[in-house]
Amino acid sequence: MGTKGRKLLEDMGLNVSQLIETLNKAFADEWLAYYQYWLGAKVAVGIPREAVVAELIQHATDELRHADMLAERIIQLGGTPLMTPKIWYDYTNCGYDAPENPDLRVLLDQNIKGEQCAISVYKKIIDFTKDKDPVTYDIALQILEDELEHEEDLENIKDDIKMMFKK
Ligand code: FE
Ligand code: FE
Ligand code: MG
Repeated sequence: MGTKGRKLLEDMGLNVSQLIETLNKAFADEWLAYYQYWLGAKVAVGIPREAVVAELIQHATDELRHADMLAERIIQLGGTPLMTPKIWYDYTNCGYDAPENPDLRVLLDQNIKGEQCAISVYKKIIDFTKDKDPVTYDIALQILEDELEHEEDLENIKDDIKMMFKK
C-alpha cells in the first residue's frame, strides 16, 4: 500500500496489522468453505440431487471469489495471504466439516452452519472497519451479501425437501 494510503488508515485509528490478521482468518475460512462445497457437490446423494449439486457448485465458486477478494486486499494493506493450506486450520473461524456423510440433507445442514459462521465473521469486519477503512468495509459488505444469500438459498432448499416428503 502506498504511503498516503497507509497514513490515511492510521490517521483514522485503524490497527492495520490486526485488520490483516482478521482478513487472513476469513481467507482461511473461504478456502475451507470452498473445498467443503466443492467436495460436497461431488459426493452428494439424495433427492433432489441435481438442484442441490448445482447450488453447492455455485456457492463453491462464490467462496473462491471471496478468497480472491480477501487476498487482493491483504496484499494492498501490505500483508501476506496465508502461504500454506496447513495454516488454514490454525486461522479458521468457522472450521471445516468434511462431507463424510453424503446425504444431501446432512450436507445442507453443515453448510448452513458454515454460512451462519461466515455471516458473523463479516459482520465483525464491517464493524471493525466502519468509518475507518471504506475499501475493506465495502469488500466485507459485498461478501456479507453473498453469505446472507447462501444461507437463505440452503434453507429454502431444506424447506422444499421437507414439503416434498411431507405427504
Ligand atoms: Fe464466502
Ligand atoms: Fe458462503
Ligand atoms: Mg445460491
